[in-house]
Amino acid sequence: MNASVENSVTYTVLAADTLPQIFGGELGPDKGCFLYGRSFSPTVRNLARQVAALEATEAAYCCASGMAAISAALLNLCNTGDHIVASQAVYGGTHALLKQFLSQKCGIHTTFVDIADADAVAAAITPRTRVIYTESLSNPTLVVADIPALTRSAAAHSVLGQKISLVVDNTFSPMVMTPALLGADVVVHSLTKFFSGASDVMGGVVCSSAAFVAGLMDLHTGPLMLLGPAMDPRVASDLSLRLPHLGLRIAEHSRRALAFAHRLQALGAQVSYPGLPGHPQHELLKRLVNPGYGFGGLLTINVGSLAVANALMERLQNHEKFGFMAVSLGYHDTLMSASAASTSSELSDTELAGAGIQAGLVRMSVGLTGALEQRLAQLEAAWRWAIGGRSAAAAEPMARGEGVGKAKRARSWQSMASEMSEETEGGQEAGVRQQVGEV
Ligand code: PLP
Repeated sequence: MNASVENSVTYTVLAADTLPQIFGGELGPDKGCFLYGRSFSPTVRNLARQVAALEATEAAYCCASGMAAISAALLNLCNTGDHIVASQAVYGGTHALLKQFLSQKCGIHTTFVDIADADAVAAAITPRTRVIYTESLSNPTLVVADIPALTRSAAAHSVLGQKISLVVDNTFSPMVMTPALLGADVVVHSLTKFFSGASDVMGGVVCSSAAFVAGLMDLHTGPLMLLGPAMDPRVASDLSLRLPHLGLRIAEHSRRALAFAHRLQALGAQVSYPGLPGHPQHELLKRLVNPGYGFGGLLTINVGSLAVANALMERLQNHEKFGFMAVSLGYHDTLMSASAASTSSELSDTELAGAGIQAGLVRMSVGLTGALEQRLAQLEAAWRWAIGGRSAAAAEPMARGEGVGKAKRARSWQSMASEMSEETEGGQEAGVRQQVGEV
């Protein structure tokens, strides 16, 4: 029933002249011919075929991480001197890859835009633009990309022989959205997140046409083949066994995220969740989603300052046992992080402001464990403790002068950590309550 794990990294042939035929591209995995673990592996290919079916693309291939998938996809599309138009609201690692790494090491330059502003996207396109890059739901701000409109924009500006490809990172919304059905040319994922669901393995995938995937894996020129971020077959086998219940998990993550968002809204929190009817992009998202999977398992709350964000998260973790302060997402328990001081810390203060990532923004990847009513009660209790009658906006003055520039961020984390380690548990609570102005 379950596919067996092929754990060999090298494969034998029956006739000596088969090897040159494989190297010449005449024989490959479609004819049952495997060569070496960094090239195609039967087990990794099996997972890739499952993900391709899920993402409605002709083909896919898996690799060691989401970042490996993103960098390989972009290097397959761009050469030195080429240009990318990217959403200013993307995962911090992707932002750093686009802004610094690709530009400095490869001469591939990126213009960042508000991806929801069609005019800004069109205005940023140059004759050397080869890629429009976006996340379907952005990390952490949950901006919804209008994939059909971006597809039209890419097509309108493509000229003969110089296609602009729309690349969509669908890490935040597997099952919820199928970007290829909405027009995306290439879809990437960090499989480390919802696909894994257990924060125990890393992986990535690039989904696209068979020709694109063949290009990624070309023995002589392919970025996945030559840069070498191969997925271990055992990891591929593990992930394959989790795919059948991905849909059930996503539907439950979404159901709970919506319930949390409603409760936080009722408490007067500045909650952002595109599944809420009042969210400015709710109607757009409704047009893009696949029915039955909700609107995704992530939400954000802006509590006005990093100090209040930290107090709320610590209370939720250490007192309420509601979830964990940790980066990443898609885990079975709730994970919380203040994005500006963690997963988006690669961005400067100006870039954070442009992307709408405030110092007090808490990203929550909503988990599946515990009774929903119990979790809602824990969330409400911690909220009342940390925020009390004060609205998040009223907490804002505490953030004055508390820029989250890199140096300040490092200082505040270090000083908070040392303050905390010196305090008794009761002392810690008093310290935190002082920071939020409660005592
Ligand atoms: N894409 C998004 C939206 C992410 O949030 C992340 C990581 O947090 C990545 C890609 C990178 O994935 P990985 O950590 O598997 O390299």
